[in-house]
Amino acid sequence: MPHPFTPIFDRHSHVSLYAALEGCPDLSTCGDSSQALTLMRGLPADRLSLVRGWHSGRLPLSTADLAGLPPVLLVNFSLHGLRLSPAAARLLGDTDPELVEGHTDLAWCERNLDRLLVLYGRTAGLTPAKLEAWIQGLEAVGVGAVEDLLLTGEAAWRTMRASRWADRMPWWTVPAIFDALPAEAQAECAGLKVFTDGALGARTAALDAPFLGGEPGLLLHADETLRRTLADLHARGKALAVHAIGDRAIGQALDVLEDLDRQGVRFPLVRLEHVQFITEAQARRARELGLVLSMQPNFTSDSADYADRLDRARLARNNPFRMLIDRVGFRPGRDLIFGSDGMPHGLAWAARWSLFPPFEGQRLSLDELLAGYGAAPGSLAPRELVVDGAARSVRVR
Ligand SMILES: [Zn+2]
Repeated sequence: MPHPFTPIFDRHSHVSLYAALEGCPDLSTCGDSSQALTLMRGLPADRLSLVRGWHSGRLPLSTADLAGLPPVLLVNFSLHGLRLSPAAARLLGDTDPELVEGHTDLAWCERNLDRLLVLYGRTAGLTPAKLEAWIQGLEAVGVGAVEDLLLTGEAAWRTMRASRWADRMPWWTVPAIFDALPAEAQAECAGLKVFTDGALGARTAALDAPFLGGEPGLLLHADETLRRTLADLHARGKALAVHAIGDRAIGQALDVLEDLDRQGVRFPLVRLEHVQFITEAQARRARELGLVLSMQPNFTSDSADYADRLDRARLARNNPFRMLIDRVGFRPGRDLIFGSDGMPHGLAWAARWSLFPPFEGQRLSLDELLAGYGAAPGSLAPRELVVDGAARSVRVR
């Protein structure tokens, strides 16, 4: 049965990265490695090209395979890993020798994920035509505004502010990019983003126990380093968005924020991004501090996808929306906001996993889901969500 809704405001995506990747060669469309190599051999010899959608298991590429290629930056389908052809390494060696040296080390990549995402976005390049095509893609799936959590630089800022969605794309960025922006851009910046752990896909989220395969997860900062980093950022006068997926990372962020709060160091707004494994005790501390939880209902699907690395008790603790709303008192749209991280964009996937979750504690009503996203500004034509309970499927029309 159809439910009308106003196009939503996606509170966590990566506009300047994802839109730049529009139209880049995509290896996920290649049937085998030789097809992938043929595609890459046709790329320009005199400049760096970005190729996305590479799956190292499905499309194995040897060192010899890469040696004959033009300058190519091959991005893993998860965005958490990359390969460089020798010609690309030579090109990047001048500007970023540390990246050329470190990029084959997974832990280095996780620690420097912000740098990698910026490199991808800049290499791919954001043009007005790419951004317009990407925006039309969002409109098609019922999105009417979107936040960029990691602006890739000044060029992307200029393209975004010239688009027809300029006032529908608030953006955040990491301190290193912020500090290099012109004052006018800094004034427009919604806030600063800090990462504290990795991701579930790469088994680098910092949980309070190792992954089933023994991987320990990765805290990106020592407590004292994080405390000093945040205290230093406070002087910029901006809001703060802290990426923390695992309960160990969430606990560290709360410890540091409580400590700063006691010293009177308070930010205009602090958002905790993802917080998939927040515990009830941590949720109460977050509420006490007045933090906003910025979560992604579509990642409830991780509880179905990651049984290979997380035990059942852990899978059940992912995205504990009932605990947050019913027991701790978070209010969707106020201090509990929703986004997609582009995995994928649109209301359908988030609604499918919220209405038909693997675990009851993850359930959200349609009203709660829509309130958590909030309506995009302006007077946009309403859309319809069609829910098929028998097939457990949802689509936007
Ligand atoms: Zn993100």
